[in-house]
Amino acid sequence: MDKIRVEDLTFSYDGERNAVNHVSFSVEDGSYTTIIGHNGSGKSTIAKLLIGLLEKESGNIYVDDQALTEENIYDIRDKIGIVFQNPDNQIVATVVEEDVAFGPENLGVKSADIKKRVADALKTVSMSAFRKYSPAKLSGGQKQRIAIAGVLAMQPECIILDEPTAMLDPEGRKDVIDTIKKLNKENGITIVLITHYMDETVDADKVIV
Ligand code: ADP
Ligand code: MG
Repeated sequence: MDKIRVEDLTFSYDGERNAVNHVSFSVEDGSYTTIIGHNGSGKSTIAKLLIGLLEKESGNIYVDDQALTEENIYDIRDKIGIVFQNPDNQIVATVVEEDVAFGPENLGVKSADIKKRVADALKTVSMSAFRKYSPAKLSGGQKQRIAIAGVLAMQPECIILDEPTAMLDPEGRKDVIDTIKKLNKENGITIVLITHYMDETVDADKVIV
């Protein structure tokens, strides 16, 4: 089954040039799918269209075979989490565990459940020992894993990561990619990894260019 299906998707920022030009692809449920393309090829625009941050001009987006509309965008955002390139733009709290709790708090999850979700999410990204730290004291790779934990704590079925390693050193990159692979293999989360590093597509079930 397809988790996400995109058919003939087109979008323009200025009404003249298409940033996304008649794009079609599918992401199978439970898969580790990568999207690779050079700078300016429309990858981030696609990510934003998928979660309804931008509105498509034409074409269709289906999540679990349900067409994305203005009415169901919030249901779809419950299913799909997103991690962006710069972890500094995603971290909102001054203590790691509070930051990870932010998402589920906004979803109205009960506080006892939030505690468990935060502990589980930090364990999954191997950052439990840092739960009382200030995010400002962490390395780029550690911050990005905290951002991933924040998304995980919302228990999405699918996570889109838009060049999550672009700002990291090689060690941070490896830790983040290992974490992403683990989410797919052990937690069964559908992964859409957007990247411009060829080596990050190596173990993917599908590579979309
Ligand atoms: P990628 O993520 O693959 O680098 P983007 O989706 O960011 O590509 O950009 C696709 C195209 O859309 C580029 O030509 C870029 O300059 C343009 N673009 C991106 N964001 C905006 C914006 N907010 N306003 C106008 N043009 C934009
Ligand atoms: Mg981009």
